[in-house]
Amino acid sequence: EFQLSSSLLRKIFFFVQEVEQTYIMIKPDGVQRGLVGEIISRFEKKGFLLKGLKLFQCPKDLAQEHYKDLKERPFFPNLIDYITSGPVVCMAWEGDGVVASARKLIGATNPLQAEPGTIRGDLAVQTGRNVVHGSDSPDNGKREIGLWFKEGELAQWESVQTPWLIE
Ligand code: ADP
Repeated sequence: EFQLSSSLLRKIFFFVQEVEQTYIMIKPDGVQRGLVGEIISRFEKKGFLLKGLKLFQCPKDLAQEHYKDLKERPFFPNLIDYITSGPVVCMAWEGDGVVASARKLIGATNPLQAEPGTIRGDLAVQTGRNVVHGSDSPDNGKREIGLWFKEGELAQWESVQTPWLIE
């Protein structure tokens, strides 16, 4: 009788199934404050798979497109100035449930309301300087990764940790 090993099953799954991805971005305040390593390491340690990573100076039109759902809000012009005020670190992370889990790791929009232990809860004090972005749905994860990364900028790889993270 023919039996598939879990590692072979995972490889087949890897080719057939689209795994959930989220767009995480360290905002210019996070970069300026030297928090890049700290923030990346939280997602690494959790066990998600890093698919894309770059330091990038965001043009205004991209910031406007990224935050287009907020364009009627009074803080929108300040938000665009903030996001384009210096380089950001763009990341694509992958894993089952990564979108919602990353939002939990990031914490509430207002850092004063974010739980201790979350990135914003530990590292920020103001909504307008809340150090990190995370997609709010799998659809937006896809949309935002498409906006911020070009074809060929995401890596196809499997971490040696996978069998120690996922049974
Ligand atoms: P989140 O980033 O937690 O998903 P939103 O999508 O509501 O939050 O807002 C996007 C970003 O816009 C926030 O992370 C923050 O940088 C900025 N923002 C939201 N609300 C305010 C506000 N009241 N004042 C200033 N900036 C804001």
